[in-house]
Amino acid sequence: MCGIVGYIGNKRVVPVLVEGLRKLEYRGYDSAGIAVVENGELKIRRSAGKLRDLEEVLRTSPLDGQFGIGHTRWATHGRPTEENAHPHRDCKGRIVVVHNGTIDNYLDLKTRLIAAGHRFVTETDTEVIAHLLEENRAGEGVPLEDALRKVMPQLKGIFALVALTSSEAFKIVAARQGPPLVIGLGDKEYFVASDIPALLEHTRDMFFLDDGEVATVTQSGVKIVDVS
Ligand code: GLU
Repeated sequence: MCGIVGYIGNKRVVPVLVEGLRKLEYRGYDSAGIAVVENGELKIRRSAGKLRDLEEVLRTSPLDGQFGIGHTRWATHGRPTEENAHPHRDCKGRIVVVHNGTIDNYLDLKTRLIAAGHRFVTETDTEVIAHLLEENRAGEGVPLEDALRKVMPQLKGIFALVALTSSEAFKIVAARQGPPLVIGLGDKEYFVASDIPALLEHTRDMFFLDDGEVATVTQSGVKIVDVS
């Protein structure tokens, strides 16, 4: 299992993400990471080990941002190293993705993407998703949620996915095919998480995504599209 959190709102994003991950500690994990966007710049901190190891990284190398996502990993593909910790990036470092689950056809996808010129830096199955999103945005001309809708049918396996890009401000996209994802609606703030405890401190207004659904979360609300 793993834990996913995402946040768009007026609170300081890094503490919201870290506290959310803490509430998901029961899911067990071997590494953790967060990505935030600050004024169009994507910033990532990751660490092997416990959440307190990530917190130590954040203490020595602090981070601030306007929206972001976080992940605690339970490795299925690739060792539990910092390099393999989520969030994972595309070639340009503008898209990040966190993932709960397994992509069974990742080797076929990876081989094809490498042949198409994509550079991979991790041993994970998840990294293919970042590169597929990059490919399907056609040079950033396509909104991230539309790219995600095109990527979903290419993935064989189970996944809860949450992604963002530094080139689309205040937007987080999420998709579910198997593992749970819950969306939280607060007062001018929105949350995505693997489970309810990560959200309870902030809101009681929440709902689970269904399989085959893609959610687009922005400052003005949540849009759901069924692509199954
Ligand atoms: N399969 C992915 C990995 O090994 C995600 C595992 C998880 O659900 O945390 O990185």
